Formats: sequence, C-alpha cells, structure tokens
Amino acid sequence: MKAHILDGKKVAADVVASIKKEVEEIKAQGKHVPGLAVVLVGENPASKVYVGQKEKKCKEVGFNSFLHKLPASTTEEELLKLIDTLNNDRAIDGILVQLPLPEQINTDKVLMAIAPSKDVDGFHPVNMGNLVTGLPAVHPCTPKGIMYILDAYNIDIEGKHAVVVGRSNIVGKPIAHLLLDRNATVTICHSRTKDLAAIVRQADIVVAAVGRPRMITASMVKEGAVVIDVGINRLEDGLVGDVDFEGVAEVASWITPVPGGVGPLTIAMLLQNALEAGLKK
Ligand code: NDP
Repeated sequence: MKAHILDGKKVAADVVASIKKEVEEIKAQGKHVPGLAVVLVGENPASKVYVGQKEKKCKEVGFNSFLHKLPASTTEEELLKLIDTLNNDRAIDGILVQLPLPEQINTDKVLMAIAPSKDVDGFHPVNMGNLVTGLPAVHPCTPKGIMYILDAYNIDIEGKHAVVVGRSNIVGKPIAHLLLDRNATVTICHSRTKDLAAIVRQADIVVAAVGRPRMITASMVKEGAVVIDVGINRLEDGLVGDVDFEGVAEVASWITPVPGGVGPLTIAMLLQNALEAGLKK
C-alpha cells in the first residue's frame, strides 16, 4: 500500500482526551459544565445506536447529558414544545435531534426551531449562512472533522483542487465552503454530473460523501491525491466507505479508512461544538 492513513480514530481520541481535561478544569473551578440534550423520537435501530454512542462519549468527557426519548407517535407540536423548553434551559448548551424523524414531523421546522447558539449539529440556516459568509458559526460536525484531520496531518489546502462528490446540506455543501474558505479551488459533483471520473481525476483532494459503496475507484484518482471517505455503507461483509480502499490506497498519498476515519471525528466535533457553546456562558 502506498498511501498513508489519516487515522481518525487516533485524532478523535486526542480531541476527546483534551475535552475531558478541559471539563475537569471547568469543574475544579466551579464553572458551568457543558450540557447536551439528545432527542430521540421513535425506535429506529441505527438512530438508537448513534444516540447511545453520543451519550457514552458525553459521559466520558464529563458533560451533563440529558436524553429525551419520545414515542414514534410524537406530534410535531409536542416536539416543538420540547425544543422550546430546551432552548430556554440554561443547563443545556447543545440540542441534538437525532434524524430521521417520523413522517408526521417536518424535519426542517424542527431544526429551524433550535436556537442557533445551541445548534451543535450546525444545521440551522443561520449557522449555515454564517459559515458561507465566513462569519462565526457552529460548523456541522462531519465537515468540521474533515478540516480538523487535514490540519492534524498538515495537509496543504491552499491552491489545491478539491473535488467534493455529494451536495447534501450536512456534508457536501458545507465541506465545499470550508475548503473554499481555506483557498482551495473547489468543484462540487452530484448525481447529474457528467463524466464524474474525469473530474475526480483532476483532484488533489477528493471528498466522497455519496452513500454508494466503493464507487470511487483507483482509476478515478490522481497519483498522490488526498482521499477523504465520508461514506458509511453497511454491506454483508461489514462497513465500507464510498471509496474502494484497497485500490485507491495504491495511488493516493493519504486516505481515511472506513471505519476509523471520518466517523470518530464527527462525534469528537459534536463534543467540541458543545464545549465551545458551554464556554460562552
Ligand atoms: P445524501 O444522500 O444526503 O447525499 C448524497 C449525495 O450524493 C447527493 O448530493 C447525490 O446527488 C450524490 N450522489 C448520489 N449518487 C451519485 C452518483 N452516482 N454520482 C455522483 N453523486 C451522486 O447523503 P449524505 O451527504 O447525508 O451522506 C453521504 C454518505 O456519508 C452516506 O454514506 C452517509 O451514511 C455518510 N455519512 C457519514 C458521516 C460520518 O460521520 N462519517 C456523517 C454523515 C453522513 P444529488 O444531490 O444529485 O441527489
């Protein structure tokens, strides 16, 4: 294998350890301890796993964590009422509503109801707008984690051609803007892009956030490119990314594995966002 590994697990563990230390100091000084409210509606098994992981990490770093488990039959009005209560609760610095929500609830309406200062997911249009205009904002966790790991390994961004495959509001669009903000030349690709392979082949930095197992293959990647695999696809042979790791690792200079790449950083950045929100109190 030619590529070096961008070790998300290790980098995330370092972030978590430093947050833990900071919380210990906060507690020793009798200051406000960050509090994160996690809202889970319904019984989606994957959501339960994600919420469990987030709760565990919150406890690990010493945050106060408040889990609100609501039945699948919860109405939009009931959920909005809970959000309003959490918005006005001084003990809470971050509100995380686990997606997807049941059909009867309008997800956009719920996400918009979260106070932007407590929006630790960074999904609120105010935060997104501030991110795009370069104003102080809560950055969404996955893109923030990608920038963090690039910096942790001193990967050059300025002047590089970054190709982002995927244009979702939670990954593709925000990572494209964060890379642009750091002076990369950015191309965003999506399902209607013509000749994706030819465009990806021009990239110095590839970010794959599509949700299609191993779709980025070695022949699509330029020799020496840095490859960030955001994809999480559950197959019979386990978790795989959007990048064909075995093949691409032979041409790339740096690559994130799946699992152990972007995933652990996403949770670490959620904690970081909650800490930063708590420190503003
Ligand atoms: P979405 O489904 O919201 O977006 C997927 C994007 O991929 C869309 O913009 C879509 O284009 C594009 N796309 C689909 N097919 C193709 C194709 N054949 N060629 C080019 N582009 C295509 O996904 P998310 O952004 O939410 O997530 C992407 C992946 O990342 C998923 O596997 C998800 O599980 C994972 N993920 C991982 C996280 C982590 O912590 N590691 C966090 C968040 C997500 P169009 O807009 O035209 O439909």
